[in-house]
Order: sequence, then structure tokens, then C-alpha cells
Amino acid sequence: MRTGGCLCGAVRYTVAGESFHVGRCHCGDCRKRSGSTYTIYGQWPLEAFEVAGEYATYDGDSFCPACGSRLFSVYEEGVEVQLGSLDEAPFELRPEAEIWIKRREPWLHEIEGAAQHQENRH
Ligand SMILES: [Zn+2]
Ligand SMILES: [Zn+2]
Repeated sequence: MRTGGCLCGAVRYTVAGESFHVGRCHCGDCRKRSGSTYTIYGQWPLEAFEVAGEYATYDGDSFCPACGSRLFSVYEEGVEVQLGSLDEAPFELRPEAEIWIKRREPWLHEIEGAAQHQENRH
């Protein structure tokens, strides 16, 4: 069981068991949404996910309306959690794939052992 939430504590969540995929994305949307140059996310089945507190959603992407922390995206097959919002650091989940590497900054190294995709997977 892992716990996480936003910076101000208004939104809290838990994910149970292991994620079925962990990735790093360098796409233009992730850059804008995070304010950084990439995001690290983990995907869990929907039934493994519980959330408490009021959150807002823009274009499928949920965040805390009070402090602005980006948190998760709920979609049909599961939930994609922004792993930086987990409480424990380091979180000891390792990206298995990197996507949109054509947008990766040249000073960032590729993650050893992670599949490399120019754009999306598949
Ligand atoms: Zn907050
Ligand atoms: Zn992205």
C-alpha cells in the first residue's frame, strides 16, 4: 500500500499492490502540466486506487485546486498517478519505458533498461 497527496494535504490517495506500468514522459503536454521537463507516472488498476478530498480535473488530468499539485489521471482501464506525489521518497519504482524521447532535453540521460519510444508506446 502506498500513500500520496498534494502539497497542502487537501487531497489524499492510496494505491494498493504493484503498479502494472511505470513510465517517464517528455511530451509537450507533460512539460506544460508539470512545469518541469518530464513526468514520472505509475499505472494501477482502478480498484487499487482510493482518493479523499476535493480535486479538480482539466482535460483528464486531476490536481488540487488549492495548491495546484498535479496528482493523477483516471481513465477507463486504470489510474495514472504522478509518482512525485507519493509520500515516500525515493519511491523505488523504476520506469520501464520512456515516451516522447524526441522531446527529451539533451542533458538528460536515458534510463538504463527502459524501452525508448520516439512518441507514444504502441
Ligand atoms: Zn493541495
Ligand atoms: Zn506526456
